[in-house]
Amino acid sequence: MPTTMQRARHILKSSFGYDDFRHHQADIIDAVSQGQDVLTLMPTGGGKSICYQIPALLRPGTAIVVSPLIALMQDQVDSLQQLGIQAAFLNSTLTAAEQRAIESELLAGKLDLLYVAPERLLNGQMLSMLDQCQISLFAIDEAHCVAQWGHDFRKEYQQLSLLHERYPAVPRIALTATADQRTRDEIIEQLALQQAHVFINSFDRPNIHYAIHEAGNGRDALWQFLQSNHPHDAGIVYCLSRKNVEATAEWLQKKGRTALPYHAGLKQQLRQENQQRFLREDGIIIVATIAFGMGIDKPDVRFVAHLNLPKNIESYYQETGRAGRDGLPSNAWMSYGLKDVINLRLFTQNSDANELFKRMMLQKTDAMLGLCELTSCRRQAILAYFGETLNQPCGNCDNCINPPETWDATIATQKALSCIYRSGERFGSQYIIDILLGKTDERISRNGHDQLSTFNIGSEHSNAEWRGIFRQLVAHGLLASDSEGYGVLKLTEKSWPLLKRSKIPQTVMLRKLRKTSKQQRKRSSTYGASAQQSAQDLSQEDQYIFEQLRTLRRKLATEQNVPPYVIFPDKTLNEMAIIKPTTHAQMLDISGIGAVKLSRYGEAFLHALKNPDE
Ligand code: ADP
Ligand code: ZN
Repeated sequence: MPTTMQRARHILKSSFGYDDFRHHQADIIDAVSQGQDVLTLMPTGGGKSICYQIPALLRPGTAIVVSPLIALMQDQVDSLQQLGIQAAFLNSTLTAAEQRAIESELLAGKLDLLYVAPERLLNGQMLSMLDQCQISLFAIDEAHCVAQWGHDFRKEYQQLSLLHERYPAVPRIALTATADQRTRDEIIEQLALQQAHVFINSFDRPNIHYAIHEAGNGRDALWQFLQSNHPHDAGIVYCLSRKNVEATAEWLQKKGRTALPYHAGLKQQLRQENQQRFLREDGIIIVATIAFGMGIDKPDVRFVAHLNLPKNIESYYQETGRAGRDGLPSNAWMSYGLKDVINLRLFTQNSDANELFKRMMLQKTDAMLGLCELTSCRRQAILAYFGETLNQPCGNCDNCINPPETWDATIATQKALSCIYRSGERFGSQYIIDILLGKTDERISRNGHDQLSTFNIGSEHSNAEWRGIFRQLVAHGLLASDSEGYGVLKLTEKSWPLLKRSKIPQTVMLRKLRKTSKQQRKRSSTYGASAQQSAQDLSQEDQYIFEQLRTLRRKLATEQNVPPYVIFPDKTLNEMAIIKPTTHAQMLDISGIGAVKLSRYGEAFLHALKNPDE
């Protein structure tokens, strides 16, 4: 008789179409199948679902999957049904009749997996129904939702320990992509997982290329980035305000891209519609506030662009993490300027949280700004922030590929600080820069600032350079802005030693402004996840075949009213385009094609491969 793990491997190949387990998948599946509790931390796209889906097929009974992401359940169930697995969901989107039908399937023991929202699971009626079923396991997805201080807190999650009390013999597996120790401890505590095996994966997302630009005009830089890297790809552009979302979407539309807005102020129906189009059509850009994202499981998001600064590294990582779930090369791109830095600092200063919380927020702001102004590998810094060590620079971030130059900016800093001091700490950056550059405008002469000793002492730097200097000084805490939000620059405690030329000599090293000359642009685009690369370096001919396969996929998806990636992921189409299988057996060798999908789609794709010009 085959062992449990032999059966697991068989399912992996025959149903899911994959040759090997990834990361800790095999150990996790082994433990859960044997009836043990597990806590697993894996990055987005790491392959968490299989960790409970395969045990659900190995153990008798129905697996109950708790998930707060109602919008995702349909996709997950569609994907499983495509593999010939008996799956269903119960949530508020179903009609009463649909619910009853699923409940009777559950009671008849016909379901391998049932997805439910936590509030539904905890109601008395549902529990008494579960009492009558054989339950194979409980999977608690997005387990970080138990964490009180986290941004995804769900109070129902805190009652999920009830499952353990009521069904002590049923194994539980909690899954999350949120890394930090505090959240981890809270999950164990709240869900009573003290006895669980804990599997922690590296949080690195090696397929994501990180780049952070200090830009004068964020939009132009965005356009350059899109043109050279993603002329046809789907992606997300994050903006800070609703107004900005609307304006940016409109601007991209005018430039010829299909860009749809998404923010909390839009009518529910329009939001839904835009999200749906993003999931189902190819090459759509969603322009959104951070209201968009939670529960978006689209695997082929090729880029996430920020036109603002995220509040902290956690948010940055979560938001950029929506790119490249399928493991193909993807870009996390950001552009920010002096104003963004000032606003982020202000946001923390002016929050009405208690002192302790505020201090924590300040530290997080510092860390985020530090990441922006960093001159070494971004990935090393991000992972270090989450307590992980990457021994070598990654080679796949802007700083690794195109190392920024630094320069000794001590004198420039002293000039800037001195100028602010002498003009009474009452002005914004542009005014101070004008004094430094010796501009004689009416306001400056009215204030008598053309008489200052710092008037016209900064002409060795351009206006743009000075803006970069001020941005970095604010980012490093050598300057602060007024708390009213007028952008007035003030000295800080850290400024004084420099201003007074203290006995202990201090140097200030800053990043040089990067020139985006044509040559450099070209260079960085060949390194980042460019359009060609994201189609995994297909030759022109293969690219053509890939497009034909994509068209077929879209047709099949539309017929069944499911998103295209539920039929096959891009990765599978890529492999097909390169290998060009001609028989069913060769088809089965392609990653992502198991027996059921072969019988459903094998013929259609073989035909398309044989006759690409039809
Ligand atoms: P997560 O929930 O961790 O974000 P998923 O479970 O959605 O990730 O998996 C991400 C992608 O990786 C899916 O397309 C999935 O089918 C694929 N995948 C999972 N495990 C494997 C494996 N062992 N080999 C190849 N692909 C895998
Ligand atoms: Zn790097």
